[in-house]
Amino acid sequence: MPDAVTHLCSGLLAHIPGVPAGAHRWAPVFVAGAVLPDILSRAPSTALGMVHSHLIPLPSLLLYCWGPLHLPSGILLYSLALTMLFPVFQRRAVLTALLAGATLHVLLDLTQRHVGLGYPLLVPFSSRDFEWGLVGSEASVPWAPWFALVTLALWGWLHRKKQPSPPGTPPVGEEDARRPEAEG
Ligand SMILES: [Zn+2]
Repeated sequence: MPDAVTHLCSGLLAHIPGVPAGAHRWAPVFVAGAVLPDILSRAPSTALGMVHSHLIPLPSLLLYCWGPLHLPSGILLYSLALTMLFPVFQRRAVLTALLAGATLHVLLDLTQRHVGLGYPLLVPFSSRDFEWGLVGSEASVPWAPWFALVTLALWGWLHRKKQPSPPGTPPVGEEDARRPEAEG
C-alpha cells in the first residue's frame, strides 16, 4: 500500500482541479473514504497484536479478521454502515463520496508490486489476486513529504481564492433539494 500521507494527499488533491463548489462539501467524506481502507484493516490488527504480544493471548481470528475491510466487499459493507450515521437526505451523497475515495485508494494500491500475493479483489467470490505491479510497495514513501507540501500549497491557494457565500444562500446539491424545511 502507498503510505498514509500519499493516500491522504491524493484524496485532497482529487478535489482541487475544476471541481464545482458544491462538491467540496463532501471533500472530508471523500478523503475519509481514501484513508479508511488502511485504517480499518490495519489499525485494529496492529493494536490487538500488541495486546496479544504484551498482555493477554488473543484468538488468531481476532488478530487477522480485519483484512477484508481493505477489499471491495468489505469497503462496501462498512461504507453502507457509516452512511447510516447520516440523515436520510445525505446518505446517497455520503455513500458516493466514501466509495469514490475508496476507489481512489484501491487504484493506487493496485499500482504496486508485492513479493507475495496481490489483492484478492473479488473476495468472497474468488481468491484470485491482482495488481498492476508498476512500482515497489514502498516507492511512495520518499515522495510523501514533497507530496504533502504540494497538497498543502494547493489547498491553501484554493481556500484563499474561495469567496464566502452570502448569508442565507441555500446549499448546493441534489440532496439539499430534499432537505426538510424544518431542518435547522
Ligand atoms: Zn491500502
